[in-house]
Amino acid sequence: MKVSPFIQNLKPYIAGKSIEEVQREYGLTEIVKLASNENALGPNPKVIEAAKKALDDIHRYPDASYITAKKIIASHFKVNTNNISLGNGSNELIDSLIRVFCEPNQDSILISQGAFVAYKVCAHVNRVHVTEVPMKTNFQVDIEGLCNALTDKHKIIFLPNPNNPTGMYISKKEIEPLINKIRGRGDVLLVIDEAYNEFVRAKDYPDSQSLFKDFKNVVVLRTFAKVHGLAGLRLGFMMADPHIVDLLERIRLPFNVSNVTASTIDVALNDRDYIKRSQEVVWQGLEYFESELQKMGLEYCPSQGNFIFFDLKRDSSLIFEALLKKGVILRPVKNYGFSTHMRMSVGTMAENKKAIETLKQVLGNT
Ligand SMILES: *Cc1c(COP(=O)(O)O)cnc(C)c1O
Repeated sequence: MKVSPFIQNLKPYIAGKSIEEVQREYGLTEIVKLASNENALGPNPKVIEAAKKALDDIHRYPDASYITAKKIIASHFKVNTNNISLGNGSNELIDSLIRVFCEPNQDSILISQGAFVAYKVCAHVNRVHVTEVPMKTNFQVDIEGLCNALTDKHKIIFLPNPNNPTGMYISKKEIEPLINKIRGRGDVLLVIDEAYNEFVRAKDYPDSQSLFKDFKNVVVLRTFAKVHGLAGLRLGFMMADPHIVDLLERIRLPFNVSNVTASTIDVALNDRDYIKRSQEVVWQGLEYFESELQKMGLEYCPSQGNFIFFDLKRDSSLIFEALLKKGVILRPVKNYGFSTHMRMSVGTMAENKKAIETLKQVLGNT
């Protein structure tokens, strides 16, 4: 079959190692996986109940407009249903935004170096150029650098806040110059990806809700994969001006969200107890990680997410392999250009302790 060389040269996305893979490859039974920023609490039993009920209808197509789902989200966030777009994970929305706003082989997206990798991956697949602005030395996004780099070619600026894999966030004051730069411009979109919004404790975190209401070219992305514990069901949503929502609707594949997934939105979004416990597990875990990494003399970035980014001060591949052999899966971040860093998600306290103990053993032996 003849395929364009462009497609032939694409490399498939490499996800974190799965538990089954590591069990099989290393003959282990007990595995601690802290590699994909998943929810440490496990699935929400109320969500499972809702999903089970929805199984009775899986011979039917979902409601194509997702109006019930949109109403639940809209009322929760005090916006209108025409401000909401649903995606098969927020990753789908990232891809859709690029396809809507960027002309292939012509336009570019603008991101910070070390930003969440999906923006670059989606741009590449859609034959859209990527401009990466170097970070500051403390791994903070250089907002001034982004402002200075912005040209007519850039149609979207993606700003993950807080960022994955660093966990660093942009404050209300820091984001201002960028907002001023794009104010009133109909030719460039600022997409603020808030996958970890609920874990942020910083008091000066920007109120993105008011930003997207005040600026027609600001878009906010959220996901159910993190605080709501639905990574496997694949659900994300966008809050934006109705005009942008309407454009995305034009390219959306019909039934992109399953009816089982859609059935869980109400309980997932409104189960305050599960959300609160998810936050507490993460905040306690981060405190533990920080104090242990300090004791080990390893530098880390202060994290506003459900993971921590730290410097092993040596090549991460060997440490990653040594940890795997002992049943601990962390995430090396070489694909982000960080060859000595590792990202470790917060798990249950037992998992956190196992990860830290194993890390100590492994580092002691290298
Ligand atoms: C985890 C994550 C997402 C979520 O992606 P889904 O497709 O909704 O699972 C989005 N953005 C960032 C920065 C993330 O880390």
